[in-house]
Amino acid sequence: MTRMINAIQIEAPGGPDAMELVQVALAAPADDQVTVRLAACGINLIDTYHRSGLYPLSMPARLGCEGAGIVEAVGPEVSALKVGDRVAFAMASGAYAEAINLPESALVRVPDGVELDAAAAILLKAMTVDYLFNDTFPLSGGEQVLFYAAAGGVGLIACQWAKHLGVDLIGTASTAAKCELARQHGAIDCLLSGDEDLAEQLRDIAPQGFPVVYDSVGKDSYRLSLGALAPLGTFVSFGNASGAIDAVVPGELALGGSLYFTRPTLATHMMRPGWMQQSAARIFELMNKGVLSVEINQRFALSEATAAHEALEARKTTGSSLLLP
Ligand code: NDP
Repeated sequence: MTRMINAIQIEAPGGPDAMELVQVALAAPADDQVTVRLAACGINLIDTYHRSGLYPLSMPARLGCEGAGIVEAVGPEVSALKVGDRVAFAMASGAYAEAINLPESALVRVPDGVELDAAAAILLKAMTVDYLFNDTFPLSGGEQVLFYAAAGGVGLIACQWAKHLGVDLIGTASTAAKCELARQHGAIDCLLSGDEDLAEQLRDIAPQGFPVVYDSVGKDSYRLSLGALAPLGTFVSFGNASGAIDAVVPGELALGGSLYFTRPTLATHMMRPGWMQQSAARIFELMNKGVLSVEINQRFALSEATAAHEALEARKTTGSSLLLP
């Protein structure tokens, strides 16, 4: 039966105040779908790219990619999940809402011992770290890596995962307090991203250059990242916090010493058969062992989505943020 729910929608791309709390119709789940009543919606910087139009959506658009909640209803072809199960998801559309219909295949079970708000705050971000560290540039331990925005949502997970792997993660962040947080989570060192002599500081730490740079800042950090790489190093460009990189010039990769450049996305990895379930299992196991934990440092009501995006884009947040329906 169709019912009305609260959700966040935009009529056109724009700033944080383009988002409106509206009533939308939620149909009964289709044959292969599950209705999830959301306990918490994860907030990710990608949501701001969807809102601003950097990643275009057809309008009107419902925002939000990540969440966790309780199964409320199931379609007739759903086989593994039942009403009352605790589930979570990443990279869906329309997660800033009280409830969502998703295919059963898009959901993972949240194990006992993991709270729903923790699942909503970690899944997308930790899956990102999983593919960055285990697929894009597989780390085996002993490497020294540069990781931007180390005190952010993805960043604090990366610090913990790197420590677990025996990798020396050198982070960057915009304030001393953020750097301290990154160190507490396992970064070996953390440098202030605004320091004028950042390139020299990086050369002192890694005189031969880094084998890999995980760069989520984009436009503003592109040159710094290129210069920080060792010959044959890998430039992993995985975000646009400061805007998208205009162009990658092959000759510059040659000059840097046969560099590799890649622009990976979580969406690609989610399409690999079985990968999402395997990644979720790795993440929940690491949480159970106490290797990974999630800092939920900002909580907003669903109606406060504008304030949540303003805080995230103004670099006022650390760790993960949630919207609570
Ligand atoms: P964060 O919590 O890390 O927030 C973004 C952080 O980026 C800010 O706190 C800020 O940290 C830093 N930043 C640097 N420059 C700017 C700038 N000009 N404007 C705003 N922020 C800036 O966000 P998420 O954890 O959600 O995501 C982290 C990054 O990972 C994002 O770039 C995101 O797009 C990317 N990502 C990519 C995925 C993929 O598969 N490719 C999947 C998931 C995330 P500071 O103040 O310390 O500089």
